[in-house]
Amino acid sequence: MSANLQSPVTVLRGVGGRVAEKLKGLGIETVQDLLFHLPSRYEDRTRIAPLGSLRHGDRVAIEGEVELTEVVYRRRRMMVSRIADGTGSITLRFFHFSQQQQRGLSRGTCLRCYGEVRGSIGGFEMVHPEYQRIADGGEMPMEESLTAIYPTTEGVHQLTLRKLTDQALEFIDRDTMIEELVPAELYHDDSGYTLAEALQYLHRPPPDASLELMKSGKHPCQRRLAFEELLAHNVSLQRMRRRIQQYAAPVMDKGKGLYEKLAPQLGFDLTAAQARVTAEIIGDLKKPHPMMRLVQGDVGSGKTVVATIAAMQAIESGYQVAFMAPTEILAEQHFRNLDNWLTPLGTELAWLSGKQKGKARQQSMYSVESGEAQLVVGTHALFQEEVVFNKLGLMIVDEQHRFGVHQRLRLMEKGKHEDRRPHQMIMTATPIPRTLAMSAYADLDTSVIDELPPGRQPVTTVVIPEERRDEIIERVEDACRQGRQIYWVCPLIEESEVLQAQAATETEVLLQEQLPKLKIQLIHGRLKPVDKERIMQSFKGGEIDLLVATTVIEVGVDVPNASLMIIENAERLGLSQLHQLRGRVGRGSEKSSCVLMYKSPLGEVARERLSIMRETTDGFEIARRDLEIRGPGEVLGTRQTGVLDLRVADLMRDQELMPKVVEASKVVFDKYPEIIEPLLHRWLKQGLQFAEV
Ligand code: ADP
Ligand code: MG
Repeated sequence: MSANLQSPVTVLRGVGGRVAEKLKGLGIETVQDLLFHLPSRYEDRTRIAPLGSLRHGDRVAIEGEVELTEVVYRRRRMMVSRIADGTGSITLRFFHFSQQQQRGLSRGTCLRCYGEVRGSIGGFEMVHPEYQRIADGGEMPMEESLTAIYPTTEGVHQLTLRKLTDQALEFIDRDTMIEELVPAELYHDDSGYTLAEALQYLHRPPPDASLELMKSGKHPCQRRLAFEELLAHNVSLQRMRRRIQQYAAPVMDKGKGLYEKLAPQLGFDLTAAQARVTAEIIGDLKKPHPMMRLVQGDVGSGKTVVATIAAMQAIESGYQVAFMAPTEILAEQHFRNLDNWLTPLGTELAWLSGKQKGKARQQSMYSVESGEAQLVVGTHALFQEEVVFNKLGLMIVDEQHRFGVHQRLRLMEKGKHEDRRPHQMIMTATPIPRTLAMSAYADLDTSVIDELPPGRQPVTTVVIPEERRDEIIERVEDACRQGRQIYWVCPLIEESEVLQAQAATETEVLLQEQLPKLKIQLIHGRLKPVDKERIMQSFKGGEIDLLVATTVIEVGVDVPNASLMIIENAERLGLSQLHQLRGRVGRGSEKSSCVLMYKSPLGEVARERLSIMRETTDGFEIARRDLEIRGPGEVLGTRQTGVLDLRVADLMRDQELMPKVVEASKVVFDKYPEIIEPLLHRWLKQGLQFAEV
């Protein structure tokens, strides 16, 4: 069989095992992968820039005659060479050079150089440019297309990548796999490029291509590819969604009774947003197909009660509910809330966590399996092999941004019963900008609780360097004197829970010395669940003034009287994590504040990030800016990469394509189902895994 685009790169000239291995590190395994490995930038070596026309920052080819070359001593030894072309002159600066090189740059020599122009006090210069000598009266040919610079890795030269893509581009003409799949009507812009033309153009742009436009990523060829890639991802998620929609799900149409009993106990009315989202969920639960709904709501927007009402609907209709949280402490808190609310109404609850052992565990497992437990709360231990549900009808997952599509699917399989699948409700406090949600969560319906309960006080945030710790200590004393409670968070850089706990322990000892009158208590992830529980309860009950914590309190902890939070090493945390932490204060009627401590000096990005925290408490705004700074992979959590494994498209840059992509995706299912397989095959390596759903 002759080589085609799906063939391994080893079919190309110059690729042996060693190079293939390196290429694999770049995500390149097949010839087609090379085609989709696009240049990260371009250099214009097709023309010579007159020296009189240079601007700082230009990357250009220049030519000139050497006027002077000398070795000088500034802070270090260097060789400088001055060249001129009649329109102007420029200095070439070399820190590493040989005598031979110096001789080669003697006065009168003609050079062609390539490099980046920097403005300096003495005029323009290039540091370590690439250069070639032009032989007497000789003509040196110019490049015919812009020079592509590829993302690469150690041991793979640009030249190698250029040669390999040259070969890969030859396949375009003789392989039908690169043919147009997406009908022209689906493209709303009239760029008119075919996929093959776009690839050709982006690898080898003609000299008149606009580097500016290509740099911005908005060239029609780039958009052409990005559109098709985003479409492929969307189609993949939509197909999964459609398949899931074909399963049956329990119809849960009894439920009013329980909620009517609960409502008077809550002590508050639902906000309009909570009521709207609750109605959306109840509407889904009454349908005979699985709900797949993402509920977004900023920290403190009151997601728990919404989830509780959903759970009641399921229980009342005779089904079990699994309620899962990402950490033990958060799961415990949910358990406590739900226990308070539901046990008096006659509901049976069970608790399941990884740390639970022996008899307690057996008992929980039994009550889940026998169906005695109507509501099971726990960590991901809920979804381990050994746990057998009796009649699981609804799964509620809190703080889902830590789970990707695969986890969602696994969850669903857990509750499968013949042709039936449970309903799924996923909650997140990390607001996902709409266009991003359209791509990363295209398989889910979305509800947004876009309102906070009334009476919340905005949190004032200050940013203070560690050196002013004394001031902070004073502030803490003051707050305590006013009867306020305080969180002191020591988020640690190390992944290790042991080290985190250690650092927090040290901080606690130190604080106890500095604040002898305060009742200080330490809490971290390595404590026994009962101890954590006891500590949280006594903090809630006001017996503790200051709680020194690791990020175990990041999500969900709810103590309304706590109104001051100190976060150490704030510069090391992501914005959404800081937002989550800060959301622990400002829950009561007290005016609250948050002190972000940092270790100086702060880099520019870190400074910018901390000032965003000072400027706004709006979770959506923070998420939007975090996204700009850190990119979608980070914001959505690393486990999301399965969905975001984009080669060409950029979710930030190309977000305005998303509405069109979503529309086109619908048309594909309605009118062109035959292109689905080849489209996914072309763009998604792992996309085919969702096929078994
Ligand atoms: P989150 O969305 O961050 O999970 P919670 O569900 O923990 O928020 O709710 C935060 C706090 O707000 C809790 O103390 C909860 O009882 C309270 N709360 C929820 N809804 C309302 C409401 N409609 N009115 C007043 N307080 C509410
Ligand atoms: Mg919560």
